[in-house]
Amino acid sequence: MAGQINNVGLIEVPMGITLREIIYEIGGGIKGGRQFKAVQTGGPSGGCLTAKHLDTAIDYDSLVAAGSMMGSGGMVVMDETSCMPAIAKFYLEFTCEESCGKCSPCRIGNKRLCEMLEKITDGRGTMEDLQELRNLAAVIKDTALCGLGQTSPNPVLSTLDNFWDEYVEHVVDKKCRAGVCKKLMRYEIDREKCIGCGKCAKGCPAEAITRTDYTAPGHKLASMVIDSEKCLKCGACIGGCKFGAISVK
Ligand code: SF4
Ligand code: SF4
Ligand code: SF4
Repeated sequence: MAGQINNVGLIEVPMGITLREIIYEIGGGIKGGRQFKAVQTGGPSGGCLTAKHLDTAIDYDSLVAAGSMMGSGGMVVMDETSCMPAIAKFYLEFTCEESCGKCSPCRIGNKRLCEMLEKITDGRGTMEDLQELRNLAAVIKDTALCGLGQTSPNPVLSTLDNFWDEYVEHVVDKKCRAGVCKKLMRYEIDREKCIGCGKCAKGCPAEAITRTDYTAPGHKLASMVIDSEKCLKCGACIGGCKFGAISVK
């Protein structure tokens, strides 16, 4: 049992125990009082289940019926700081490395899935890609030669089913609600809060912060602005601003 829970470790539980009992009673709940978002069961080829599955009993058939599997018996708990398209990509990259290459659905198909997920998490995806992602994942599941390939699309299919809105946000709004996908982040300065001290500009490795000609009421110096084309999304400026003027959107 691993991930964003208070008690991580190796546990032995009876069949029939629920995900909720494991996560909240044995695992001690979500770290930092954050919200539960998903739990992936069964190792890298398992599906990502949501709050609506928390009362699912842990047994072979129930986990498969919910869209995941028993697999290795592993369990990774995620909170709202996890981005589900990025999670699907992470697990699929692992499968690509493990693929022996004997059959093309797994060897080539999973690579294509990875490329599509990269496009989506980079903010270059389209609604057509989402459909293509689902179609190809289903074909790989049906046609791969062994269990590795047949289960490898589970993280993709389960996140498409359970976190569809998050995929749509990535391709339509070019937004990552978890703040994980760097290319979709925008660092912004609130010109009304910025006192124009210039500290952020001095520490910016990309020289992306410059002074505007606007001075907010009550301040003596003009505010600063970030050029998002130049910004490397390193995050150095945000922690250094004592006035809380910089945020990530
Ligand atoms: S599905 Fe199995 S046989 Fe086919 S490439 Fe993947 S690991 Fe090899
Ligand atoms: S550090 Fe904060 S207050 Fe100072 S210039 Fe930068 S954004 Fe403005
Ligand atoms: S995130 Fe980094 S690169 Fe971007 S403006 Fe801030 S300091 Fe500069």
